[in-house]
Amino acid sequence: MMNLYSDRELHEECGVFGIYGAEQAASLTYYGLHALQHRGQEGCGIVSVDDAGEFRRHKGSGLVTEVFKGEELARLQGRMAIGHVRYSTAGGSRLENVQPFLFHHNSGDFSLAHNGNIVNSAQLRLYLENRGSLFQSSSDSEILAHLIKKENRGIERPRIHAILEALNMLEGAFAFVIMTSRRIYACRDKYGLRPLSIGRLGDAYVVASETCAFDVIGAEFVRDVEPGEVVTIDHHGLRSTRYSQYRRQQMCAMEYIYFARPDSDIEGCNVHAYRKESGRLLYAESPAEADIVVGVPDSSLSAAMGYAEASGLPYEMGLIKNKYIGRTFIQPTQELREKGVRMKLSAVRSIVRGKRVVLVDDSIVRGTTSRRIVALLKEAGATEVHVRIASPPMIAPCFYGVDTSTYEELISARQSVAEVCRTIGADSLAFLSEEALYKAGRREELCTACFSGRYPTALYAEKEQANKDGKF
Ligand code: SF4
Repeated sequence: MMNLYSDRELHEECGVFGIYGAEQAASLTYYGLHALQHRGQEGCGIVSVDDAGEFRRHKGSGLVTEVFKGEELARLQGRMAIGHVRYSTAGGSRLENVQPFLFHHNSGDFSLAHNGNIVNSAQLRLYLENRGSLFQSSSDSEILAHLIKKENRGIERPRIHAILEALNMLEGAFAFVIMTSRRIYACRDKYGLRPLSIGRLGDAYVVASETCAFDVIGAEFVRDVEPGEVVTIDHHGLRSTRYSQYRRQQMCAMEYIYFARPDSDIEGCNVHAYRKESGRLLYAESPAEADIVVGVPDSSLSAAMGYAEASGLPYEMGLIKNKYIGRTFIQPTQELREKGVRMKLSAVRSIVRGKRVVLVDDSIVRGTTSRRIVALLKEAGATEVHVRIASPPMIAPCFYGVDTSTYEELISARQSVAEVCRTIGADSLAFLSEEALYKAGRREELCTACFSGRYPTALYAEKEQANKDGKF
């Protein structure tokens, strides 16, 4: 169901942050999480470790500013901290699923936070439960902790060995930050599906899902964590270890298209620049006879600028977003919900009246939002609305932690481009090609599974279940 409180039909699962060696580490984590808030609004948490090695945690449901009001941060002492913002897909929105998780163990306490989805979680959970593990939550992130504990059982050896063995058992998309009393480990899946970057703040090191979290605290980007790599951060600085020789660079294409903030750089490519280039390519592939170009705020504005630049048509603010619809907004009735887009977006009558409009959007998921926006522009006097989408038709669900919903809900899985065009009431409709997704970022590899159905990993039970449900 479309969330009224957000214009986003797609949801990233999470964002992670960690900092080693800084005064007021928890407060810096708070600012970092705030910059990552777009990656998850359901819940958040911070765990810190003080100089005596004591772990402290605060977490809760809601936005970063709702969960942390000041006094909680003062309690989270120490020069190390990790944090997490969550959107609940796998595991639901219960408080015990809000991360970071904290584990007590005779080999030493540790905490972890995760972004992504483990596709063999059902098998691993069964494997662990059969060996005596008791799970506190339904989140699959906890599986890594149990694997680490199991792999360390009864053996005196550095924890990194247990972490490497545990990571090797996971299949799917993940970026993990793991914090022990002395160090932070930053780990990324071997396919490179989820982003994770390292930054530097004076003598301190920072790790985050997106580089926009570095900018907000004045940290400098150092490098990305490589696929299949664990970066250990401690008083020695950074150390790199590989847990897998298999290595791809199949970054989630939706990070560039939609999820990430435009001021973030993902694997050396600025997100705004990527989107702008995708808009230029979109014009080259699908020009439209029109008077103005309008982007859907906020994530489509960069692509709309690129389209306008390439076409020579004026880029106009034909749609304005109401930024002040908060989570406490009163839930409307079904009838009012039908008008939901109007609460978030308004067409600027004086700009669109009498004009042929090219409407640039980043993606079409269910089609309901596009239909409403086209209607909004026409009601405001647009004579024609030509919809151009800066990604290919979405035809398959995501199993890597993105809530792209089910097969039946994806309009392009059921309808041809011409049918979708009629459904949304547009005068014409065109999507960007899959090839252009690679071209826009000058990339050889990407995950484009939700556009092609070609998944980079095995899917285990996820696909079996989808098959059973008739979703795939
Ligand atoms: S399937 Fe789509 S949303 Fe999921 S990781 Fe791949 S590109 Fe991203």
